Amino acid sequence: MPASQTLQRLEKWLLRKTGKAIADYNMIEAGDTVLVCVSGGKDSLTLLRLLRLMQQRAPVSFRLIAMNLDQKQPGFPAEVLPAWFEKSGVEFRVVEADTYSVVKEKIPEGKTTCSLCSRLRRGIIYRTAKELGANKIALGHHRDDMVHTLFLNLFFGGKLKAMPPKLATDDGAHIVIRPLAYCAENDIARYASGMEFPIIPCNLCGSQNNLQRQKIREMMQDWDKRFPGRTEAVFTALQNVVPSHLADNALFDFRGLKLEEQMPSDGDTLFDAPELPLAGGFPSLVRLGI
Ligand code: SF4
Repeated sequence: MPASQTLQRLEKWLLRKTGKAIADYNMIEAGDTVLVCVSGGKDSLTLLRLLRLMQQRAPVSFRLIAMNLDQKQPGFPAEVLPAWFEKSGVEFRVVEADTYSVVKEKIPEGKTTCSLCSRLRRGIIYRTAKELGANKIALGHHRDDMVHTLFLNLFFGGKLKAMPPKLATDDGAHIVIRPLAYCAENDIARYASGMEFPIIPCNLCGSQNNLQRQKIREMMQDWDKRFPGRTEAVFTALQNVVPSHLADNALFDFRGLKLEEQMPSDGDTLFDAPELPLAGGFPSLVRLGI
């Protein structure tokens, strides 16, 4: 149990957000086997804890298997997560694969290794899910990750594309879910710290942080400081897309648009007034000093 009442309230808040995301996107159904990818970071450890609580309380029955991939980075504390999984009473599988040596060998010194590393990791996760009979794969990405990805693609990729809460894998064998899609990173960080999760640092591989992602993160932090609730507003926008007011012919038939055709109900009013939701977030974190 969480140590304090404050932590319990934060847990309840995160559970509510996670439950809503799961329900909104129909992420977990009765009989599912969900492989929960746990890197040892705050996000994945929080995800595992919340899913465990849900499993114990949910009216439907589903199986959870925690998975950690030991990539053989120097200094990786291989004993930490298995001990944590056992303590949490969760079924788990640790997969050992020396992707660290592979990326070091293939990628020239000084270049970022993340893209090859992620590809290798993805293949191993899919294979493990198949071996274990898991039809769902749960990842610990949260709301802020999704918004950052939107801006990364916008600024550096020329695409209006974020990170979906749910997707089918390329081979069509599994569904990937992101149950923390509605959770703010700050709330997760405070929860993980309050719960004293055994966090494993994410810089063991020595790779430089993705600089572009870092820049976006700083931009959003700055925006949120000056305009509280902005990250949430952007995320809300991801759920309210109006294809007729973008410019993608594949999404909306601009060429075929006829005079007699009705525009969508939220169509062209020439000067749409933005309707922004009130800033959200766990209401009393600052006051409660978490
Ligand atoms: S930071 Fe290191 S472990 Fe993480 S994706 Fe990049 S190369 Fe892989």
